[in-house]
Amino acid sequence: MIEPKISDRNWQPHPDIGEAMYSFVRDLYPICRSITGNGVRETLRMVGRHIPLSIREVPTGTEVFDWTVPKEWNIRDAYIKDASGSRIVDFKNSNLHVVSYSLPVHQRISLIELKEHLVTLPEKPDWIPYRTSYYKENWGFCLRHKQYGELNEQEYEVCIDSTLEDGHLTFGEYLLEGEGPDEILISCHVCHPSLCNDNLSGIALSTMLAQHLSRCPRRYSYRFLFVPGTIGAITWLALNESNVKRIKHGLVVALVGDSGNFTYKKSRQGSADVDRAVLHVLKHSGDPYEVFEFSPYGYDERQYCSPGFNLPIGSLTRTPFGRYPEYHTSADDLELVQPGALADSLSKYLASLFVLEKNRVYANQNPKCEPQLGRRGLYREMGGFSDGKEIELAMLWVLNLSDGDHSLLDIADRAGLPFDLIEQAAGLLRKNDLLSEVSASQGADATKASIGIEGA
Ligand SMILES: [Zn+2]
Repeated sequence: MIEPKISDRNWQPHPDIGEAMYSFVRDLYPICRSITGNGVRETLRMVGRHIPLSIREVPTGTEVFDWTVPKEWNIRDAYIKDASGSRIVDFKNSNLHVVSYSLPVHQRISLIELKEHLVTLPEKPDWIPYRTSYYKENWGFCLRHKQYGELNEQEYEVCIDSTLEDGHLTFGEYLLEGEGPDEILISCHVCHPSLCNDNLSGIALSTMLAQHLSRCPRRYSYRFLFVPGTIGAITWLALNESNVKRIKHGLVVALVGDSGNFTYKKSRQGSADVDRAVLHVLKHSGDPYEVFEFSPYGYDERQYCSPGFNLPIGSLTRTPFGRYPEYHTSADDLELVQPGALADSLSKYLASLFVLEKNRVYANQNPKCEPQLGRRGLYREMGGFSDGKEIELAMLWVLNLSDGDHSLLDIADRAGLPFDLIEQAAGLLRKNDLLSEVSASQGADATKASIGIEGA
C-alpha cells in the first residue's frame, strides 16, 4: 500500500489519499469475513499495519446484555459438484457463494433437495447475493440466478468445509489520545466478506482517519472501533459501560466509497453537536446531500443510541444501505467504490471533526459598543483581498454573539458563514485580546457576571 503523505494544514487530506484508501480496500477484498473467525482476525492484522490497533478476543458464551457471544465460525472450502465431478459453484471464486455461518455439510443430494438450500436474485440474474444465518443453524449457497436456471435433474455433491465451535469474537480498538479525556468515537463494522462499499470503505476510511488525526493537534481523544456489526458493538458496550460517559461525540462509518450523494443520519438526540457539525459541513460544501432523522434500523448507531446509552452518535454515509441496487450483492465490488469518492468522504469526516475540535465559547472583552477594529489593523479601509469583507463580517458576528452563551458553531450557523471563517475571525480577535475563552466549567451566568453584562 502507498503510504499517504499527509498535510495537516486545515485538516485537508493529501490528494493521493483516495488511491491509498482504494488500494487498502483492494487488499482486504478477498478475505472471507464474518461476525467471528479468522477473516476478522486477518482484517484487523492488516489494519494494524497502519495504526497501533489492540485486538481483543471475547470467549464464546460471554453474556453481553441480552445477547451471548456466539460460537466462532471458520471456513476453508465449499463447492457444489455436478454428476461429472466438476465444481459448478466454488467458494474459491467468490466467498459470497456460501451463506455466512453455514454448518459443515458433505453429501450427495437431488436437485429438489439442493434447491432448498440455494438463494438467488431473480431480478439481478448476474449477481450473487450476500446472505447470513448467524442465529439459526443452517447451511446454504448463493449463486447467480442465471446459473440457477441452468441446473438440471441429476445428483449433486455439496460440501461446506466449515467449523462452528467454541472460540472467540474478535474486535479491534485504537485509542488515539488527545489533550483531554473527552472522547470522540469512530466505529465501523468488519464482518462482511467480499463487499467493498458496505464494510471495506468504512474500514479504509477509519484507518486513514486515525493516521491523519495522529498528526493533528487534538483537544479530544479518539477511540476507533473495528467491530463485527451488532454483536461486536453490543459486546464493546457491555465491556466498557463505565467508560461510555467520556464519549462526547461519535460517528458510525459505512458506505463511504460509492459515487452517490452524502446522507447524514442524525443521532437519537437529534441536535447533538455532532449532528450540527456534520450538517454545517454538508451545507457549506456545496454538494447535494440528504438528512435522515434517527431511526432504530441501520448500522451500530442502533446500539450506541439505544435508550440506556443514548450517545450523541450519528452516521455519515454516501448512498444509504438498501438504496443502491448493488447493496449486499457481488456487484458491491472494486468498481462500485472509487478513490475520488473515498477521498471526498474522508475530507467530509475531517471537516466535521475540525468543527468539533475548534468549537469554543468566547466572551467579548469589549462588549459595550463595537471595538474600533481599524485602530488594531483588523478592519481594512480599502478592500485589497477578495475575502476581506467576509472576514470583517465574520469578526463582527463573533464579537456580537460572543456573550458566553454562543459557541462558534452557533455563530457560524446564525451568520450563515462557514465555520472555518468564523474560527479564523475568532483567532484574529483573540490575538488582539478582544475575546477570552469561557471554560466549560464556567456557567453562562457566571460568565456574564464576570464581564459585566447586565440585564441578560
Ligand atoms: Zn451490510
